[in-house]
Amino acid sequence: MTSGVTADSQRVFRFAPSPNGYLHLGHAYSALLNFDLARQCGGRLLLRIEDIDTGRARAEFEAAIYEDLAWLGLDWERPVRRQSEHFGDYARALERLDATGLLYACDCKRSDIERLAAGKQGWPRDPDGSPLYPGTCRVKPRRTAREVLAKGGVALRLDMRMASTLAGQGLMWREFGALPRAERSDPAAPRGDDGEGRLVPADPAEWGDVVLARKDTPGSYHVAVVVDDALQGVTDVVRGKDLFAATSVHRLLQRLLDLPAPNYRHHGLVLDEKGEKLGKSVASTALRALRAEGWTPADVRRRIGL
Ligand code: GLU
Repeated sequence: MTSGVTADSQRVFRFAPSPNGYLHLGHAYSALLNFDLARQCGGRLLLRIEDIDTGRARAEFEAAIYEDLAWLGLDWERPVRRQSEHFGDYARALERLDATGLLYACDCKRSDIERLAAGKQGWPRDPDGSPLYPGTCRVKPRRTAREVLAKGGVALRLDMRMASTLAGQGLMWREFGALPRAERSDPAAPRGDDGEGRLVPADPAEWGDVVLARKDTPGSYHVAVVVDDALQGVTDVVRGKDLFAATSVHRLLQRLLDLPAPNYRHHGLVLDEKGEKLGKSVASTALRALRAEGWTPADVRRRIGL
């Protein structure tokens, strides 16, 4: 663990949106929290464009991110890292995992896995609710991961059992997620509501054999995020608690790739009037829609409680 000893002025925060839609109030909360925390300690704030999903990322959304964040009053360092310009970095990390035999090629479709799971009661599911992959291609590989790294065409999965064995015991992260006092001792509170400065044991096995490269992309969110956080010297990852459980996978990859572990703060999510999570599709909470209605950045801060 690194940043327990990082001097305040050397702390590095980042806001890392995916340009798949317009930013809404939930993004504003995350961005402003990062900005405020960086300012309070005299640290740095980076903006990273997470556009490895080239099928969904659009230039128009990226341009809107810069515009909306500037309107909110944020300032960030330039140049901005755009993940689509760094596939080579993610491919190198995958090659390193493959050199230890941890990756396998998988051409199963999501619908195949869903069909299998639908037929059996009690099929295990990952923290996002997707059925766990049963390891069909691990048992009967049709091509090597090395061939896929050279030519693409199918996904690569991590052999979770082997990876966990190699990573060894004691995998954890330091969590600073501070949440409403009332929820702290509530056993039914969603994970991530765990209070200040706690060491959280990582449990990557609950994700099963995660996909680390997609058919047409030499990388996945999990690989890109740990590689970039390390390359950019990020000491503090401040993001929504919907990514709390994914941190287990990130810690595992950091250990396997010898990357430093940042501190984490998983913040609460901004909810709509019905108490539901805001989605990018909820056009009414898009920052540009609110701006057009006459909202000011101060109104945004008030609405999200900052
Ligand atoms: N790109 C991710 C998103 O927009 C955030 C990733 C992260 O903060 O680790 O949800």
